[in-house]
Amino acid sequence: MDKIKVVVRMRPMNERETLAGQSSAWSVSQTTVSLAGSDKPAFAFDAAFSHLETTRNIFDSQAKDLIDDCCEGINATVFAYGQTSSGKTFTMSGDKNAPGIISLAINHIFARIAKSTDLTYTVKVSYLEIYNEVVNDLLSPGNINLKIHEHMTRGVHVGGLTETLANSPDHVAALISKGEANRHFGATNMNERSSRSHTILRILIQSQRKESVAAGKQSGIRVSCLNLVDLAGSERAAHTGAEGKRLKEGGSINKSLLALTNVIEKLSKEGSDRGHIPFRNSKITRILQPSLGGNARTLIICTVTPSTGFIDETISTLKFASRAK
Ligand code: ADP
Ligand code: MG
Repeated sequence: MDKIKVVVRMRPMNERETLAGQSSAWSVSQTTVSLAGSDKPAFAFDAAFSHLETTRNIFDSQAKDLIDDCCEGINATVFAYGQTSSGKTFTMSGDKNAPGIISLAINHIFARIAKSTDLTYTVKVSYLEIYNEVVNDLLSPGNINLKIHEHMTRGVHVGGLTETLANSPDHVAALISKGEANRHFGATNMNERSSRSHTILRILIQSQRKESVAAGKQSGIRVSCLNLVDLAGSERAAHTGAEGKRLKEGGSINKSLLALTNVIEKLSKEGSDRGHIPFRNSKITRILQPSLGGNARTLIICTVTPSTGFIDETISTLKFASRAK
Protein backbone atom coordinates (compact mmCIF):
# COMPACT_ATOMS: atom_id res chain seq x y z
CA MET A 1 0.00 0.00 0.00
CA ASP A 2 1.30 3.41 -0.97
CA LYS A 3 1.60 5.90 1.85
CA ILE A 4 1.10 8.77 -0.60
CA LYS A 5 -1.49 8.43 -3.32
CA VAL A 6 -1.83 11.11 -5.99
CA VAL A 7 -4.82 11.36 -8.27
CA VAL A 8 -5.94 13.97 -10.78
CA ARG A 9 -9.47 15.23 -11.32
CA MET A 10 -10.42 17.23 -14.39
CA ARG A 11 -13.54 19.31 -14.05
CA PRO A 12 -15.97 19.99 -16.92
CA MET A 13 -15.50 23.07 -19.10
CA ASN A 14 -17.41 25.99 -17.62
CA GLU A 15 -19.55 28.53 -19.39
CA ARG A 16 -16.99 31.31 -19.13
CA GLU A 17 -14.36 29.16 -20.87
CA THR A 18 -16.77 27.97 -23.56
CA LEU A 19 -18.05 31.49 -24.24
CA ALA A 20 -14.44 32.63 -24.61
CA GLY A 21 -14.10 30.11 -27.45
CA GLN A 22 -11.90 27.74 -25.46
CA SER A 23 -12.27 23.98 -25.64
CA SER A 24 -11.00 20.92 -23.82
CA ALA A 25 -7.32 20.32 -24.50
CA TRP A 26 -6.77 17.05 -22.68
CA SER A 27 -7.57 13.40 -22.81
CA VAL A 28 -7.90 11.40 -19.63
CA SER A 29 -7.48 7.66 -19.28
CA GLN A 30 -7.60 5.54 -16.11
CA THR A 31 -4.21 6.63 -14.85
CA THR A 32 -2.93 9.21 -17.33
CA VAL A 33 -3.62 12.67 -18.64
CA SER A 34 -2.22 13.81 -21.98
CA LEU A 35 -2.56 16.73 -24.33
CA ALA A 36 -4.99 15.59 -27.01
CA GLY A 37 -3.34 15.22 -30.40
CA SER A 38 0.17 15.68 -29.01
CA ASP A 39 2.91 13.10 -29.07
CA LYS A 40 4.36 14.35 -25.77
CA PRO A 41 4.40 11.58 -23.13
CA ALA A 42 1.34 11.42 -20.91
CA PHE A 43 1.49 12.37 -17.25
CA ALA A 44 0.88 9.32 -15.05
CA PHE A 45 -0.71 9.10 -11.59
CA ASP A 46 -2.29 6.56 -9.29
CA ALA A 47 -5.60 7.42 -10.92
CA ALA A 48 -7.03 10.06 -13.24
CA PHE A 49 -10.67 11.14 -13.29
CA SER A 50 -12.36 12.84 -16.21
CA HIS A 51 -15.07 15.49 -16.02
CA LEU A 52 -17.65 12.68 -15.97
CA GLU A 53 -16.54 11.24 -12.64
CA THR A 54 -18.54 11.90 -9.48
CA THR A 55 -16.97 12.86 -6.18
CA ARG A 56 -18.66 9.82 -4.68
CA ASN A 57 -16.78 7.52 -7.07
CA ILE A 58 -13.54 9.25 -6.25
CA PHE A 59 -14.29 8.87 -2.55
CA ASP A 60 -15.22 5.19 -2.85
CA SER A 61 -12.20 4.22 -4.92
CA GLN A 62 -9.53 6.47 -3.38
CA ALA A 63 -10.47 7.75 0.05
CA LYS A 64 -12.64 5.19 1.79
CA ASP A 65 -9.90 2.76 2.83
CA LEU A 66 -7.78 5.64 4.11
CA ILE A 67 -10.72 6.77 6.28
CA ASP A 68 -11.12 3.17 7.48
CA ASP A 69 -7.45 3.08 8.47
CA CYS A 70 -7.90 6.38 10.23
CA CYS A 71 -10.73 4.85 12.31
CA GLU A 72 -8.20 2.16 13.27
CA GLY A 73 -5.68 4.61 14.67
CA ILE A 74 -3.67 5.72 11.60
CA ASN A 75 -3.28 9.44 10.94
CA ALA A 76 -4.41 10.53 7.49
CA THR A 77 -4.61 13.61 5.29
CA VAL A 78 -6.61 14.36 2.15
CA PHE A 79 -5.58 17.44 0.16
CA ALA A 80 -7.16 19.22 -2.75
CA TYR A 81 -4.40 20.93 -4.76
CA GLY A 82 -4.87 23.01 -7.90
CA GLN A 83 -5.18 26.46 -9.38
CA THR A 84 -8.01 28.71 -8.27
CA SER A 85 -11.30 27.71 -9.85
CA SER A 86 -10.12 24.20 -10.81
CA GLY A 87 -12.51 22.43 -8.42
CA LYS A 88 -10.78 22.08 -5.02
CA THR A 89 -13.73 23.31 -2.98
CA PHE A 90 -16.20 21.46 -5.19
CA THR A 91 -14.25 18.27 -4.54
CA MET A 92 -13.78 18.74 -0.79
CA SER A 93 -16.99 20.51 0.22
CA GLY A 94 -19.32 19.68 -2.68
CA ASP A 95 -22.35 21.78 -3.48
CA LYS A 96 -26.16 21.50 -3.15
CA ASN A 97 -26.33 18.65 -5.65
CA ALA A 98 -23.16 16.69 -4.99
CA PRO A 99 -21.68 15.85 -1.61
CA GLY A 100 -17.96 16.50 -1.24
CA ILE A 101 -15.20 14.35 0.20
CA ILE A 102 -15.72 15.98 3.61
CA SER A 103 -19.34 14.98 4.07
CA LEU A 104 -18.77 11.55 2.51
CA ALA A 105 -15.88 10.98 4.92
CA ILE A 106 -17.88 12.12 7.92
CA ASN A 107 -20.86 9.95 7.01
CA HIS A 108 -18.52 7.02 6.57
CA ILE A 109 -16.89 7.57 9.97
CA PHE A 110 -20.21 7.77 11.83
CA ALA A 111 -21.62 4.77 9.95
CA ARG A 112 -18.59 2.77 11.00
CA ILE A 113 -18.91 3.91 14.58
CA ALA A 114 -22.59 2.88 14.63
CA LYS A 115 -21.63 -0.59 13.41
CA SER A 116 -18.80 -1.13 15.86
CA THR A 117 -19.70 -3.75 18.47
CA ASP A 118 -16.43 -3.82 20.40
CA LEU A 119 -15.22 -0.20 20.46
CA THR A 120 -16.49 3.04 21.91
CA TYR A 121 -15.61 6.05 19.77
CA THR A 122 -15.26 9.75 20.47
CA VAL A 123 -15.11 12.25 17.59
CA LYS A 124 -13.86 15.79 17.99
CA VAL A 125 -13.80 18.46 15.30
CA SER A 126 -11.51 21.43 14.76
CA TYR A 127 -11.62 23.81 11.84
CA LEU A 128 -8.83 26.24 11.09
CA GLU A 129 -7.57 28.56 8.43
CA ILE A 130 -4.02 29.56 7.59
CA TYR A 131 -3.95 32.99 5.99
CA ASN A 132 -0.68 34.85 5.44
CA GLU A 133 1.01 32.38 7.82
CA VAL A 134 -1.46 33.27 10.56
CA VAL A 135 -3.48 30.41 12.04
CA ASN A 136 -7.10 31.26 12.89
CA ASP A 137 -9.63 29.10 14.69
CA LEU A 138 -12.81 28.98 12.60
CA LEU A 139 -14.92 27.46 15.37
CA SER A 140 -14.31 30.31 17.76
CA PRO A 141 -14.54 33.84 16.33
CA GLY A 142 -11.75 36.08 17.54
CA ASN A 143 -9.53 33.14 18.44
CA ILE A 144 -6.86 34.23 16.01
CA ASN A 145 -3.12 34.01 15.49
CA LEU A 146 -2.77 30.66 17.26
CA LYS A 147 0.69 29.39 18.10
CA ILE A 148 2.05 25.97 17.27
CA HIS A 149 3.68 24.14 20.18
CA GLU A 150 5.76 21.05 20.48
CA HIS A 151 4.60 19.22 23.54
CA MET A 152 6.56 16.41 25.22
CA THR A 153 3.71 13.92 25.09
CA ARG A 154 1.12 15.46 22.77
CA GLY A 155 3.66 16.17 20.05
CA VAL A 156 2.98 19.09 17.72
CA HIS A 157 -0.26 20.86 18.48
CA VAL A 158 -2.03 24.14 17.83
CA GLY A 159 -2.35 25.99 21.13
CA GLY A 160 -5.89 27.03 22.06
CA LEU A 161 -7.56 25.46 19.02
CA THR A 162 -11.21 24.61 19.72
CA GLU A 163 -11.99 20.89 19.68
CA THR A 164 -15.73 20.27 19.69
CA LEU A 165 -17.21 16.90 20.54
CA ALA A 166 -19.48 15.83 17.68
CA ASN A 167 -22.02 13.03 17.73
CA SER A 168 -23.50 12.95 14.22
CA PRO A 169 -22.81 13.97 10.63
CA ASP A 170 -25.40 16.75 10.99
CA HIS A 171 -23.62 18.06 14.03
CA VAL A 172 -20.33 18.23 12.12
CA ALA A 173 -22.08 19.90 9.17
CA ALA A 174 -23.46 22.55 11.54
CA LEU A 175 -19.97 23.16 12.95
CA ILE A 176 -18.57 23.55 9.43
CA SER A 177 -21.29 26.09 8.51
CA LYS A 178 -20.48 28.01 11.64
CA GLY A 179 -16.80 27.95 10.68
CA GLU A 180 -17.55 29.14 7.14
CA ALA A 181 -19.51 32.06 8.56
CA ASN A 182 -16.52 32.96 10.70
CA ARG A 183 -14.31 33.04 7.62
CA HIS A 184 -16.15 36.13 6.45
CA PHE A 185 -14.75 37.86 9.48
CA GLY A 186 -12.72 40.82 8.31
CA ALA A 187 -12.51 39.66 4.70
CA THR A 188 -13.39 42.18 2.04
CA ASN A 189 -12.99 39.79 -0.85
CA MET A 190 -13.91 36.20 -0.15
CA ASN A 191 -12.63 34.81 -3.44
CA GLU A 192 -9.31 36.46 -2.95
CA ARG A 193 -9.14 35.13 0.57
CA SER A 194 -10.01 31.55 -0.38
CA SER A 195 -7.44 31.60 -3.16
CA ARG A 196 -4.79 32.63 -0.63
CA SER A 197 -5.72 30.63 2.43
CA HIS A 198 -5.66 26.99 3.44
CA THR A 199 -8.48 25.47 5.45
CA ILE A 200 -8.03 22.36 7.51
CA LEU A 201 -10.97 20.42 8.88
CA ARG A 202 -9.49 18.15 11.49
CA ILE A 203 -11.38 15.13 12.80
CA LEU A 204 -9.90 13.60 15.93
CA ILE A 205 -11.00 9.99 16.33
CA GLN A 206 -10.52 8.27 19.65
CA SER A 207 -11.50 4.70 20.40
CA GLN A 208 -11.28 2.28 23.27
CA ARG A 209 -12.58 -1.26 23.85
CA LYS A 210 -16.02 -1.22 25.42
CA GLU A 211 -14.98 -3.43 28.32
CA SER A 212 -12.07 -1.04 29.09
CA VAL A 213 -14.46 1.91 29.07
CA ALA A 214 -16.82 0.01 31.38
CA ALA A 215 -13.94 -0.81 33.74
CA GLY A 216 -12.90 2.84 33.78
CA LYS A 217 -9.44 2.02 32.37
CA GLN A 218 -7.30 4.78 30.92
CA SER A 219 -5.24 2.35 28.85
CA GLY A 220 -5.65 1.09 25.32
CA ILE A 221 -7.00 4.35 23.98
CA ARG A 222 -6.29 4.86 20.27
CA VAL A 223 -6.20 8.37 18.91
CA SER A 224 -5.84 9.40 15.31
CA CYS A 225 -6.38 12.45 13.24
CA LEU A 226 -7.97 12.95 9.83
CA ASN A 227 -7.11 16.23 8.11
CA LEU A 228 -9.29 17.34 5.21
CA VAL A 229 -7.49 20.20 3.51
CA ASP A 230 -8.59 22.74 0.89
CA LEU A 231 -5.35 24.43 -0.17
CA ALA A 232 -4.64 27.91 -1.47
CA GLY A 233 -4.63 28.19 -5.26
CA SER A 234 -1.54 26.50 -6.66
CA GLU A 235 -0.76 29.59 -8.75
CA ARG A 236 0.58 30.81 -5.37
CA ALA A 237 3.20 28.06 -5.26
CA ALA A 238 4.98 29.23 -8.39
CA HIS A 239 7.02 26.10 -8.81
CA THR A 240 9.53 26.20 -11.59
CA GLY A 241 11.36 22.95 -11.13
CA ALA A 242 11.94 19.92 -8.97
CA GLU A 243 13.83 22.02 -6.43
CA GLY A 244 10.88 24.27 -5.89
CA LYS A 245 12.54 27.50 -6.94
CA ARG A 246 10.62 30.66 -6.40
CA LEU A 247 9.49 32.87 -9.19
CA LYS A 248 9.84 36.57 -8.56
CA GLU A 249 6.26 37.32 -7.69
CA GLY A 250 6.88 39.22 -4.53
CA GLY A 251 4.21 38.90 -1.89
CA SER A 252 1.92 36.61 -3.80
CA ILE A 253 4.00 33.50 -3.13
CA ASN A 254 2.33 31.37 -0.53
CA LYS A 255 5.01 30.23 1.85
CA SER A 256 2.96 27.39 3.30
CA LEU A 257 2.03 26.02 -0.11
CA LEU A 258 5.60 26.10 -1.32
CA ALA A 259 6.84 24.42 1.87
CA LEU A 260 4.12 21.80 1.61
CA THR A 261 4.95 20.89 -1.97
CA ASN A 262 8.61 20.57 -0.99
CA VAL A 263 7.75 18.28 1.92
CA ILE A 264 5.48 16.10 -0.20
CA GLU A 265 8.02 15.78 -2.97
CA LYS A 266 10.66 14.74 -0.42
CA LEU A 267 8.34 12.29 1.32
CA SER A 268 7.48 10.64 -1.97
CA LYS A 269 11.15 9.78 -2.61
CA GLU A 270 12.53 6.50 -1.38
CA GLY A 271 15.10 6.04 1.38
CA SER A 272 18.32 8.01 1.30
CA ASP A 273 17.31 10.31 -1.57
CA ARG A 274 14.89 11.93 0.77
CA GLY A 275 17.32 13.83 2.94
CA HIS A 276 15.97 16.08 5.64
CA ILE A 277 12.21 16.72 5.48
CA PRO A 278 11.70 20.45 6.07
CA PHE A 279 8.53 20.32 8.17
CA ARG A 280 9.52 23.34 10.17
CA ASN A 281 9.46 25.79 7.25
CA SER A 282 5.79 26.76 7.40
CA LYS A 283 2.64 26.68 9.48
CA ILE A 284 0.86 24.10 7.37
CA THR A 285 3.74 21.61 7.36
CA ARG A 286 4.22 21.99 11.12
CA ILE A 287 0.52 21.49 11.81
CA LEU A 288 0.27 18.48 9.50
CA GLN A 289 3.60 16.90 10.42
CA PRO A 290 2.07 14.14 12.61
CA SER A 291 -0.25 13.26 9.73
CA LEU A 292 2.33 13.30 6.93
CA GLY A 293 5.09 10.74 6.48
CA GLY A 294 5.85 8.02 9.02
CA ASN A 295 2.87 5.72 9.32
CA ALA A 296 0.42 8.30 8.07
CA ARG A 297 -1.52 7.97 4.84
CA THR A 298 -1.94 10.82 2.38
CA LEU A 299 -4.26 11.29 -0.58
CA ILE A 300 -3.64 14.25 -2.86
CA ILE A 301 -6.41 15.12 -5.28
CA CYS A 302 -5.02 17.47 -7.91
CA THR A 303 -7.77 19.40 -9.64
CA VAL A 304 -7.36 20.85 -13.13
CA THR A 305 -9.40 22.66 -15.73
CA PRO A 306 -9.56 21.07 -19.20
CA SER A 307 -9.58 24.42 -20.95
CA THR A 308 -7.21 25.37 -23.76
CA GLY A 309 -7.05 28.74 -21.98
CA PHE A 310 -5.12 27.37 -19.01
CA ILE A 311 -2.76 24.77 -20.43
CA ASP A 312 0.32 26.12 -18.66
CA GLU A 313 -1.41 26.16 -15.26
CA THR A 314 -2.68 22.64 -15.81
CA ILE A 315 0.77 21.42 -16.84
CA SER A 316 2.24 22.92 -13.71
CA THR A 317 -0.32 21.08 -11.53
CA LEU A 318 0.25 17.83 -13.44
CA LYS A 319 4.01 18.20 -12.99
CA PHE A 320 3.61 18.64 -9.26
CA ALA A 321 1.24 15.65 -9.17
CA SER A 322 3.64 13.39 -11.02
CA ARG A 323 6.58 14.48 -8.83
CA ALA A 324 4.55 13.84 -5.68
CA LYS A 325 3.66 10.30 -6.70
P1 ADP B 1 -11.46 26.15 -6.40
O1 ADP B 1 -11.94 25.82 -5.02
O2 ADP B 1 -10.36 25.26 -6.88
O3 ADP B 1 -11.12 27.59 -6.57
P2 ADP B 1 -14.19 25.57 -7.11
O4 ADP B 1 -14.33 24.24 -6.45
O5 ADP B 1 -14.81 26.72 -6.42
O6 ADP B 1 -12.67 25.88 -7.41
O7 ADP B 1 -14.76 25.38 -8.57
C1 ADP B 1 -14.99 26.47 -9.46
C2 ADP B 1 -16.36 26.29 -10.12
O8 ADP B 1 -16.39 25.11 -10.91
C3 ADP B 1 -17.47 26.14 -9.12
O9 ADP B 1 -18.61 26.81 -9.61
C4 ADP B 1 -17.72 24.64 -9.07
O10 ADP B 1 -19.05 24.32 -8.71
C5 ADP B 1 -17.41 24.20 -10.49
N1 ADP B 1 -16.84 22.83 -10.51
C6 ADP B 1 -15.62 22.49 -10.09
N2 ADP B 1 -15.38 21.18 -10.27
C7 ADP B 1 -16.51 20.67 -10.82
C8 ADP B 1 -16.90 19.36 -11.26
N3 ADP B 1 -16.06 18.31 -11.16
N4 ADP B 1 -18.13 19.21 -11.79
C9 ADP B 1 -18.97 20.27 -11.89
N5 ADP B 1 -18.66 21.53 -11.53
C10 ADP B 1 -17.44 21.74 -10.98
MG1 MG C 1 -12.02 27.07 -3.34
